[in-house]
Amino acid sequence: MIDALPPSASELFTLTDRGLYCEAGDFYIDPWRGVPKALITHAHGDHARWGSEQYLASEQSKPVLERRLGANSEISSLPYGETLQINGVKVSFHPAGHVLGSSQIRIEKQGQVCVVSGDYKLDSDRTCENFEVVRCHTFVSESTFGLPIYHWPDQQDVFDSMNRWWQENAAEERPSVIFAYGFGKAQRVLSGLNPEIGPIYCHGAVEKINAAYRECEIDLPPTEYAGRADDKKDWSRAMIIAPPSAQTTTWLRKFGNYASAFASGWMTVRGQRRRRNIERGFVLSDHADWPGLLDAIEQTRAERVYVTHGYKRPLVHWLNNHGYQAAELDTMYEGEQDDDRSGDDEETTAP
Ligand SMILES: [Zn+2]
Ligand SMILES: [Zn+2]
Repeated sequence: MIDALPPSASELFTLTDRGLYCEAGDFYIDPWRGVPKALITHAHGDHARWGSEQYLASEQSKPVLERRLGANSEISSLPYGETLQINGVKVSFHPAGHVLGSSQIRIEKQGQVCVVSGDYKLDSDRTCENFEVVRCHTFVSESTFGLPIYHWPDQQDVFDSMNRWWQENAAEERPSVIFAYGFGKAQRVLSGLNPEIGPIYCHGAVEKINAAYRECEIDLPPTEYAGRADDKKDWSRAMIIAPPSAQTTTWLRKFGNYASAFASGWMTVRGQRRRRNIERGFVLSDHADWPGLLDAIEQTRAERVYVTHGYKRPLVHWLNNHGYQAAELDTMYEGEQDDDRSGDDEETTAP
């Protein structure tokens, strides 16, 4: 690969087969294999994996991490902005604006500052703290939507059309089902819904995460667990939020002739909706779009940028042509998933 350089010796981290490793501090960031000490940017399955001895994350990540890694895992937390010394390396967590608790991890040693951003977005979001610009020498950026075609519409317009769609379906006595990733996207969809239109029900995988959001005092409209509701129920005015993996299951039968929609950044691309057999697509992403990526990177004033997930090469190419030293970093992060692979969907297959 032309642009793929390994992190240089002057960096605060190296790329190992277990993940990003900070040798000076003897810890890993978002490792994909079990390690003694793991710092976690956020609780999505590809960043927070099983099997490490100790985890450290932001305070607001803890409730979801506990649900996903199990209460027996040793998880400590740090409030945003507070500094901790780990073997002489200064470590702090700063909001990444991606999902509840999502953080950019700032590490500093001898005046060199590196920020590992995990996943991030610049749009405001009622369900998590807004992205904070953290100045650094080296920035590790995601690139899930790192192509110029990705340019998000105004989110209030998206919520307005979502509510209009729901209202129209309700007028025709058809329940509305929106498929959205169970952690983060589902709650963001919820935060934009108008509960006066009708009752809101959630799939178990979503409802479980809603509880973690409410624990962190995030204001969501009232929801009910769809599994608990009996089959004779009148769903005609209902909005149902389900993870994408529920789409192919019998779980949906009880809603009868429902209208379907999908909320994702991928809905930008024509054909995605048809391929998924979905009536409506709402463009709503928890990741930065192309202008957002460039904007965030510029604001960090980083000289060196390492790019992970998704469309790495176009972003690296653009950066190298615009005065940055940029390189791809081959990680095992997976970007915006169609499905929640964390094992939370076990209820999906239940009738
Ligand atoms: Zn994520
Ligand atoms: Zn990711």
